[in-house]
Formats: sequence, structure tokens, C-alpha cells
Amino acid sequence: MLSFLLSLGLGFGAIDLDELPMTQVQSIVNEVVQQLDSSLSVKPSVVVSNRKDPTPLGAISYTSGRCVIVINPNPDAWAQWGRFLNADNKPNWQEIIAASAAHEVGHCMRESRQFVTQFTVQDPQHQALSGSAQLSGSHESVFKQELFADAVALIYAREFAGPNAEPVVEAMINSRERFADNDPTHSTGAYLKALKSMDVTRHAAESMGQAASRLLNDVSIAAL
Ligand SMILES: [Zn+2]
Repeated sequence: MLSFLLSLGLGFGAIDLDELPMTQVQSIVNEVVQQLDSSLSVKPSVVVSNRKDPTPLGAISYTSGRCVIVINPNPDAWAQWGRFLNADNKPNWQEIIAASAAHEVGHCMRESRQFVTQFTVQDPQHQALSGSAQLSGSHESVFKQELFADAVALIYAREFAGPNAEPVVEAMINSRERFADNDPTHSTGAYLKALKSMDVTRHAAESMGQAASRLLNDVSIAAL
């Protein structure tokens, strides 16, 4: 019974600051910001701030082009790392957290508007949701922001996680699929599966944001 409770807890978000120290996340996020430095004209700053919102890692962008990556060690927020991290993928926690950081830098890239990021949403599930009374145009906008950031995270994983890239991408897809129903604006699983089978290598002189835009324009999920 105890082991059942423990594994259920870990699977559904019982990551605490002992299992995953804040300083470890901070050092990974700082490294990712350095690695992606050339893809943004203004380097994001990284701050630790105890906030009430339920996400352990987020990005705040300003109209000035400045972007701040916020690490939120509030224990309730920290538990949400359990959406991605579990006992099975523990050997890859470092790379999964790095991909999550790249996702947030992806938000900074899109908000910086250094390049065109227009693409059409093809996801039939998402289109069905958009047609419902509950979801408005702003949800489509959030969905596109999330999709763009996930595409950046996927390209990042392929470039920097080496042989561990595929377990990292799997962790992203599993999380998106598992939480699709209660978080439809983040239900990018179908797109991620389609992107996963594509060659995501950047073209010469292409920034990561430009590559994400190109791939999202080219991706076809008709077969899914
Ligand atoms: Zn996001």
C-alpha cells in the first residue's frame, strides 16, 4: 500500500525541494539561457521568486523586449514538476528540466518578434475545442504560444541532449497527452508526435525561433 501511494504521488506531482533542489534547477536554467544566447537579441534574466501561481518555471515578457525566466520554489508549484519528472525517467531529469527551460526561452523568442511566427493550427482536436463556447480566440493564441515553445524545446533537446533526446521528447509528449483534458491550451501532443518524426536540423544561419516557425509551417498532422 505504501509503495502504491508513493508511486502514485510521484506520478501525479509530489516532487519536493529535497528531491529536486532549487539550486539544481537554477543552474540548469542559467546554462540553457547561455546556450540559447545567440537566438535572442536581449538575453533573458533568470530570477527566483516565491509566487502563488502554480507553475515552477515561467517566462514574463515585456513590450520593451526584455524577458524574465522565473523559478518559483513555492512547494505547491514545485510539485508540478511531477507532470514531467517521475521515477522512471529519473536518469534524464537534468535534460528534461533543460528542455523545460528551453520551452520558456521559446516564449521569450516568440514575444521578442524578431521573426515571423505565423502558422496555422491544424490540430482537429484543438479545432473542435475552439468551436466550443468555452474556448475563445485567446485560447487559440495561447495554444500557438505553447506549440511554438514546445517546438523550440524539441529542437533544443535534439541539439543538446545527445543520445538522451528521445526520452526527453517522450516525457514532453506524455505530459502533454496526460494533461490535455484539463489543460487544452497545452494539448500539443499530436503536434509534438508529428514534429518528432521530422528532421528538425536547423538550416545554416537559422535561429532556433526561425527553425521552430518553419517546422510548424511544414508539419502535417493529417495522418494522425
Ligand atoms: Zn509555455
